[in-house]
Formats: sequence, C-alpha cells, structure tokens
Amino acid sequence: MEYDAIVIGAGVGGLSSALKLSASGKKVLVIERQPVPGGCATSFTRRGFTFESAMHCVSGLGPEGEIRGFFEEFGIDKTIDFIELKDFCRIIYPEHDFVIDFDKENFLNFLKNKFPEECQNIDKLFLRLDKFHKQFDSFCASKLPLVLQLILSPFIYPEVIKLSSLTVTELFDKCLKDEKLKSIIADLWRFIGLPPSELSALYFLIILKAYWFEKNYYVKGGYSQLFNKISEKIKQNGSEIKYNTTVKTIIIEKKCARGVITDRGEKFFAKTVISNANAIETLAELIDDAVIREKYDKELAKLEKSVSVFQVYLGLTVPAKTLGMSNFMVSLNSSYDHEKSFSDSISAEGNNCFIEIVDHAQLDPSLAPEGKGTLLIMTFDSYKNWQGLTDEEYKQKKKMIADRLIKWAEKLLPGLSNHIELMEVATPKTMYRYTLSPEGAIYGFAHSVKQSGMFRLGQETCIKGLFLAGAWTRPGAGIQACFLSGIDAAELALKFLD
Ligand SMILES: Cc1cc2nc3c(=O)[nH]c(=O)nc-3n(C[C@H](O)[C@H](O)[C@H](O)COP(=O)(O)OP(=O)(O)OC[C@H]3O[C@@H](n4cnc5c(N)ncnc54)[C@H](O)[C@@H]3O)c2cc1C
Repeated sequence: MEYDAIVIGAGVGGLSSALKLSASGKKVLVIERQPVPGGCATSFTRRGFTFESAMHCVSGLGPEGEIRGFFEEFGIDKTIDFIELKDFCRIIYPEHDFVIDFDKENFLNFLKNKFPEECQNIDKLFLRLDKFHKQFDSFCASKLPLVLQLILSPFIYPEVIKLSSLTVTELFDKCLKDEKLKSIIADLWRFIGLPPSELSALYFLIILKAYWFEKNYYVKGGYSQLFNKISEKIKQNGSEIKYNTTVKTIIIEKKCARGVITDRGEKFFAKTVISNANAIETLAELIDDAVIREKYDKELAKLEKSVSVFQVYLGLTVPAKTLGMSNFMVSLNSSYDHEKSFSDSISAEGNNCFIEIVDHAQLDPSLAPEGKGTLLIMTFDSYKNWQGLTDEEYKQKKKMIADRLIKWAEKLLPGLSNHIELMEVATPKTMYRYTLSPEGAIYGFAHSVKQSGMFRLGQETCIKGLFLAGAWTRPGAGIQACFLSGIDAAELALKFLD
C-alpha cells in the first residue's frame, strides 16, 4: 500500500507533522527507532522515580500559548493535566540571587535596585525589547506570503531586522555598561547553548519572552504524557506508528522522495516523506542518491553543531525541598563570566562550569514515591571529551563528574549526597545513542547569528516531496520551536500532495 506521508522519527517535530497531516485526512506512517514517542524530550521511570530525560521547562503551553492553541485545534488539551509554575527559576550569582516569577516589572525593579546607575539604560533596553517583540509577534501573525513579508521587513519590522544581525553581547553592549548586569539578563543563554558573544540576539529574545515573561506549565505525570496523547490521536485519525524500527534509506525516484527502507529490509512507499531525524543523518546518509548526499555532506559540514550535555538524575529519600530546593529550577553560577563558563564546561576538565538544578517532583509529587523526591543536575559538555575511553574509563569518568556536580549542588542543598537512593547519568554519548544526534548535539545546529532566523536550514530540501522537521531546522531548538517546524513541514507536504 502507498501512504500519503511517511514521517521518520517521533520526536516533537515528527509528531506535530504527523498529527497535522493525519488530522487533515492523510494516511501517515510514523517510523521511530525507540520504543516510545517524544525523542529526546521523553520522560523515563526507574524504581518508582520519573525523570525528564531532557526537558526542564516548556514554553507556549499557557492559555494563549502557541502549543496550547495547537492542542486545542486537534482536541488534545482536554486530556492533559497542566500544572502552572509559580516561578520560572531562581538565578544565583556570587553577588546576586533572584527569582524570575514571570513578572517583568519585578525583574526590572530588581535590576534597577541593584544597578541604580544603569536605570535609564535598563529602561532603554527593555523599551527596545518591547518594540522587537511587538514587531516579531506581528511578523508571526501576518498572513502575507513569506517572500512578500521578507521584502517588506525592513519597512514594517525594522527592529527585527536590526536585531537579527546582532549577537546578545553586541545588543547589550549597545545599551548597558555593567558587565554583571549584562550577565544576569543573559542568564537564559543556557537554554540555547551558546555563550552571549556567539548567540543570536534574535533567538535569545524570542526565548526570553516565552520563558521569563509568559506563564509556563508542567504536564502532570511528565512531558511524555503529551507525546503519548499525540500518538494516540494520530492513531485515532487512522494513521500508524511503528516503534523499534530504524529507517536506513530514503527511496528516491527521479529526484523525488518515494518511500523508505527500514533496518529489517521492509520497504514502505509514500507520496511524501518528512524527516524528523537530524538533518545531517537525513541528507548526508539516508538519501538513496550518492551525488545529492555528497553535496549535502559538504554543505552541512560547514555548519556548526550545538553543544552537548552532562546530566545527573537523582532519586532522593526525601523531597528536594526539605534540603533547601526553594524553587523548581535553580541556575547556579560561580562567576558572571558566561564565556568562561561555556568554555570550561566543554573543556575536558569542566571545573568551573555553571550547573542547573531542576526539581520536577516539586511541581508534581507523583513523580517520586511518597515522601521522596527527584532532582536533575545538568551542565554542558562536549562529545569529544568522551571519545576513545574503555568501558571502565567511561564508567569512572561518569562517576567522577557526577560526584563533582553533586558536591557543587550541595553548596545550595547541604547533605544532598546523604539522601541519594538512585542515580542515573547521561553523557553526550547517551544523547547520541538515544536520538542519533551527531556528537550528541542537543539543540541541532548552533544558534549563532549565521544559523538563526531566515539563515537557518528550512523545511524544504532539494528533493521533491522530502521535508525536514525538528531542532536542526527553522525556527530552531526547544519544544515550542520544534512543534512549529513540524507544522510547517506538514503544511508544505499538504501543498505538495494537492
Ligand atoms: C538536555 C536537554 C535539555 C533540554 N531542555 C529543554 C527545555 O527545558 N525546554 C525546551 O523547550 N527544550 C529543551 N530541550 C530541547 C528540546 O528537547 C529539543 O529541541 C526537542 O525535543 C527536539 O525535538 P526534535 O523534533 O528535533 O526531535 P528529536 O528529539 O531529535 O527526535 C528525533 C527522533 O527521531 C528518531 N530517529 C532518528 N533517526 C531515525 C531513523 N533513522 N529512523 C527512525 N527514527 C529515527 C530518534 O530516535 C528520535 O526519537 C532540551 C534538550 C536537551 C537534550
């Protein structure tokens, strides 16, 4: 039989594509190599403790949020129990400690209080950000064709155009003087994985508003509940999902995508293929056309991949709150220097890196057995730090770094190590193993100026009927962005099918 569409991968981008297509009456086959949906954003359970494998927080889930709107459209929101977050994060620096509670005025007052000599500059910066966000929102809401929008952009969205060419450091240097102040406002660089001197101001500002100044929500039972519901809906719409199956080849006929071949040698045919597998795997490995593969291989090799991560998941004998975890998420910084923090974290030593500590069980106690707690500690890491190790060396290194991060977290949570009942550790190799993301990159291509906004790889490819969805493509990494990329890919596929 021939499907209307085959979707490779049931990560966020793949699921949103499949949902949109199946809800539009198309017959879809989703093929996923893991036994569950969600890609790197799935939750997992060990001995009664449920953890988020990656996700700390999801934007766009609020009543006005893009993802919530998307769920409403497909009737998924009513089956999900959303938990509203009281605050986003506590940010701790050597001389500053503040809770981001979604209230911009509170944040501005804190900054002005701590940096009185910068009051006017802070106002100037935030006025500029407001202008940017208004223009960006109207860019997104516009019904004009994209090409026309881009032509008109310098006239109707001048602030968006100006900021698209700046890094976060360049933007802040234009308005602010105090380096500590700049670092505090840039704290969210960790959610995009590049230090301010390299990070696209455009992507940073989009994320800043969504996380810090709009309500955020958790999903009761873990984010996997979302992905399970979406998968159920795809099946209810008459489409299929095949787990534990890896696509090895995308069949190409006359420069057109025609189907896939799996690791079991099964062939499935379709009028269009959407790949949620990473762009490098899709374009430089899976396509059954050596000339096109080679062309993409050369082009994609020029692009910079994002950072990877080291994560420690702890099952605790007590709720983390009793140890001093006052907020669900804490960013703990030993210095204001994000550049050094980034380079230290990806260096082999990883001594002075930042850590982020997340306590999802504080939002949903059912994630841990009664009277117990969970904790996630993460910092950035590089795949190359884990290459060439024997199994024993790998194990020892994992333990050494996990112990170091736990010790560090103990500065905030004294006695933490006495309350650990279970520990799991994920390295860049784990990230690769679960998603096949090259070098365990967690945010697709890095969000530099050159690789963000309209410069980022789009959903279309040079092969007719083959589209891309997920973090490696526009708009970028993060659940909200990946949902959108999946929808965009589905819309292109629907047009192609017409
Ligand atoms: C540690 C970490 C923390 C994060 N924190 C946050 C956060 O707090 N908030 C936020 O919004 N975002 C966060 N992100 C980012 C967010 O999780 C990702 O951007 C998003 O989940 C990526 O989705 P994706 O659509 O690109 O698919 P992926 O998650 O990359 O999934 C791709 C899927 O394709 C499958 N696949 C690959 N190749 C094949 C093949 N050949 N055949 C079949 N299947 C295949 C894989 O198994 C996988 O399931 C975090 C990411 C990480 C790793």
